[in-house]
Amino acid sequence: MVLGELGGTISRALQQMSNATIIDEKVLNECLNEISRALLQSDVQFKLVRDMQTNIKKIVNLDDLAVGHNKRKIIQQAIFNELCKMLDPGKPSFTPKKGKTCVVMFVGLQGSGKTTTCTKYAYYHQKKGWKPALVCADTFRAGAFDQLKQNATKAKIPFYGSYTESDPVKIAVEGVERFKKENCDLIIVDTSGRHKQEAALFEEMRQVSEATKPDLVIFVMDSSIGQAAFDQAQAFKQSVAVGAVIVTKMDGHAKGGGALSAVAATKSPVIFIGTGEHMDEFEVFDVKPFVSRLLG
Ligand code: GDP
Repeated sequence: MVLGELGGTISRALQQMSNATIIDEKVLNECLNEISRALLQSDVQFKLVRDMQTNIKKIVNLDDLAVGHNKRKIIQQAIFNELCKMLDPGKPSFTPKKGKTCVVMFVGLQGSGKTTTCTKYAYYHQKKGWKPALVCADTFRAGAFDQLKQNATKAKIPFYGSYTESDPVKIAVEGVERFKKENCDLIIVDTSGRHKQEAALFEEMRQVSEATKPDLVIFVMDSSIGQAAFDQAQAFKQSVAVGAVIVTKMDGHAKGGGALSAVAATKSPVIFIGTGEHMDEFEVFDVKPFVSRLLG
């Protein structure tokens, strides 16, 4: 279910409820079940949906609602608050400071949009007066360095990588050191997204992180991966200290639910979303407008 549809379904469920002459427990349950179904279809994890339903029931005590209060509004507000709460891990992510060297490591599965997002992130900051640089520490996928090089050249951002070196840790360290010497304030390390076995990928992430000591690790997730979002995000979080999430491909058939799962699994906020293939199709993520849009 795409974002707009989800908002429509939720609005309809609320409308149906407010059309009922008396809003009793049965009517509220029907409304919440309808909303839960809509959220599940939008790939919000089952446990999150169940928790939300329980929380709303706790907040919305029908007996306590004074006569004349707009119950629909109260329930709508409760849903809004619950969704905002799900997207807010309670602490902001580390924010790089302009002029102060900062290493940001990107992790995520192949195809998630990691390399594209590294460039978008660099370009976004470059426009704001930063001195970003890109390091390609993906030695697994043939063509990874070329892709990063092409993107970086287009955006006029310095880059580092190798066609021959097979040790990602070595490249990552060399790249970070070089750009520190060149006084770059935002050194972005792109990593591999695939390996012969998953365990090897996570071990590599751990090693690159240990060697480069990033100030921030960003987990990049494709918004269309559906219910797999939670487990995937959690697997990365267990290997490296993920501190922020970027959700890509929010254009087109994007589903909002994965974002909620990624936040829950990593206990980190979504900081940007990718909304297209181009360098500037990249938006700062803001919880409240996102949820407003979600609810239509
Ligand atoms: P990586 O394997 O994770 O490094 O993924 P890439 O950066 O190579 O991206 C995989 C594909 O997704 C490419 O075709 C990108 O152009 C595309 N892509 C990345 N981000 C977005 C996005 O926000 N929207 C859309 N529509 N496509 C994207």
